[in-house]
Amino acid sequence: MKKTDKIFIAGHRGLVGSAILRALQQAGYSNLLYRTHADLDLMNAEATHAFFAKEKPQYVFLAAAKVGGIHANNTRRGEFIYHNLAIQLNVIEAARRVGTERLLFLGSSCIYPRHCLQPMREEYLLTGPLEQTNEPYAIAKIAGIKLCEAYNSQYGTNFASVMPTNLYGPYDNFDLESSHVLPALLRKVHEAKLTQSKNIMVWGSGTPLREFLHVDDMAAACLFVIQKADFKDMVNIGSGQEVTIRQLAELICEVVGYQGDIVYDTSKPDGTPRKLLDASRLTQLGWKARISLKEGLQQTYQWFVQNESLTAETSVA
Ligand code: GDP
Repeated sequence: MKKTDKIFIAGHRGLVGSAILRALQQAGYSNLLYRTHADLDLMNAEATHAFFAKEKPQYVFLAAAKVGGIHANNTRRGEFIYHNLAIQLNVIEAARRVGTERLLFLGSSCIYPRHCLQPMREEYLLTGPLEQTNEPYAIAKIAGIKLCEAYNSQYGTNFASVMPTNLYGPYDNFDLESSHVLPALLRKVHEAKLTQSKNIMVWGSGTPLREFLHVDDMAAACLFVIQKADFKDMVNIGSGQEVTIRQLAELICEVVGYQGDIVYDTSKPDGTPRKLLDASRLTQLGWKARISLKEGLQQTYQWFVQNESLTAETSVA
């Protein structure tokens, strides 16, 4: 990937897309292409094809997606499958038609079976039933992976997929209804501190295990993978930093400086008990995460406090 190559970042306002854009800018890439949702609706096939025909990007980061936490995934099931399928179909097919040299499709670790062997290796895909709370989203992401694979095999494209573990960082969605656990708890604990509440409410039992990766590490991994042109498969991106939801809540209280109690609302779902990725395929290629969970939480909390006004919106990356 040359510094002057034309690179399209789909979803540049979301958590991952914005981090990829920052990383590309910092690395000196000068021909970057991005559009707001208002300027280009990637669910609209005609508009997407017209955009690609005009711009002919050489590289594409497909980070546009309908994303959300356990509650949003579980309740807006139709939206999660339809939006993601539509965006993927349009962008991946448009990239094929204009001869995009390399495309990186962003997936998710929820594509693996609910009771998957841990840590989860790439070859465990489609070896068992999925977690119910996010099955529609996972099915859409699996379809995206298979679309890239099928196009590579039939048309000789060079499209790869990356499966990140739970991501967090600046420009995350901090809306309490639709967000993931980490931004939700940062907000809850911050607000409890300000209002001097006696306790904060954590969903579920606190026992599920989750692995977290800072989005700047994720962006670095994406730049690393897209430049390995001979690497066409799907690859996991993880940090190996696994904690229980209880440990996460305690760490967030420490970072925010809140001394109240943590109360567990077991009427809310736990979701999958554990999802730890095996990222050895990527680490063998020479990449590894750099930002510790504590350091990443401190940085994200600082960003949240400075940008609270931005975080009220519900995110669609
Ligand atoms: P998941 O990784 O797909 O299950 O998505 P989430 O990040 O939304 O949830 C991870 C775990 O954190 C689940 O066990 C949730 O029940 C738990 N959790 C605890 N408190 C919260 C909260 O305030 N919001 C969210 N989204 N999850 C929470």
